[in-house]
Amino acid sequence: LNRRLAEFGTTIFAEMSALALSTGSINLGQGFPDTDGPEEVREAAVRALRDGRGNQYPPGPGVPELRLAIAAHQERRYGLAYDPDTEVLVTAGATEAIAAALLALLEPGDEVIALEPYYDSYAACIAMAGGTRVPVTLRPHFDEGASFRLDLDELRAAVTDRTRLLLINTPHNPTGTVLTRAELAAIAELAVERDLLVVTDEVYEHLVFDDAGHLPLATFPGMRERTVTIGSAGKTFSFTGWKVGWVTSTSALVTAVRSAKQFLTYVSSGPFQYAVAEALALPDSYFTAFRADMLAKRDVLAAGLAEAGFEVFRTAGTYFITTDIRPLGESDGFAFCRALPERAGVVAIPNAVFYDHREEGAPFVRFAFCKRTEVLEEAAKRLRAM
Ligand code: PMP
Ligand code: GLN
Repeated sequence: LNRRLAEFGTTIFAEMSALALSTGSINLGQGFPDTDGPEEVREAAVRALRDGRGNQYPPGPGVPELRLAIAAHQERRYGLAYDPDTEVLVTAGATEAIAAALLALLEPGDEVIALEPYYDSYAACIAMAGGTRVPVTLRPHFDEGASFRLDLDELRAAVTDRTRLLLINTPHNPTGTVLTRAELAAIAELAVERDLLVVTDEVYEHLVFDDAGHLPLATFPGMRERTVTIGSAGKTFSFTGWKVGWVTSTSALVTAVRSAKQFLTYVSSGPFQYAVAEALALPDSYFTAFRADMLAKRDVLAAGLAEAGFEVFRTAGTYFITTDIRPLGESDGFAFCRALPERAGVVAIPNAVFYDHREEGAPFVRFAFCKRTEVLEEAAKRLRAM
């Protein structure tokens, strides 16, 4: 393994899902739903397979039906107009979109500012692209309910002459933070002032629990032309195994990302692309029900974790709850998560893996709530009894 990747080892998700299997524990670690997405979307995939649509290499940028559906979704929900032929790219999940964007847009030595804790693939992809990551830490606040927040002064101070790109994620995995309109406006102003590119991972765009809803960074003044926006059918339609993601941006930036993408996977997910095109056209009632269902699950797990003695941070978006284990007399999230399957039959993720400043993340542990209610209740029961 080369020096760029040596520090990354095996992803925490693989490690913890294997631990869940080997111990027979409830897996609230890796974020995937335990029920599949809509029946009619599964049927659409079966039809595509049967009719021979997508069984051979689909077009490099994605099948036209899906590119049209992605553009229509961005327009309908956010008023963002993208040309489906030149400004939309289908990828092998958001994971490939992140990798291709960073590989395409970074020169060796460029600095990338990422919110810490950061989704683990960001660090690895920045490294593979020869970039330097500059984490800006979201810190816990305990006024008006516990939550993690961005310090805008720290963000501004992190920009140097070598900064090429801001890598933003909202709703934010693992903290559940949703950046406010004011924070997004400040990020946008900074990007314009310092002429930075922005890659924004918005895979949890449909899992925002406030009335305000999701605000894409690309909608802010001066941002459309410098922002690469990333979405995923895995999150929005509960098909994490299909690996259908996408990028929307300017034609120049999409062309750049596609240049990298063509040598990573070339294409992927043929028949699933047709099914996701139909999924994106589902009526608003699907998205509303999906959000309401996850909100109810959030509340079940949050209550259970609080009763078990965790400090529970408020999840404004995503399907994760971050907790602080110090009220349980614990301080090392790694040790806690490695012992938890034996102690309680539950698997969780230590947030420290998402930090460069590991000590800052040490007492935080993430639980996923994209599981059936009875599973969440059983997990809560086990944690209360431990
Ligand atoms: N970004 C974030 C913040 C995620 O949480 C995930 C996966 N859960 C991804 C990207 C990857 O998405 P995909 O499964 O579509 O590759
Ligand atoms: N994004 C999911 C999570 O945060 C996991 C995806 C993966 O396994 N790479 O749990």
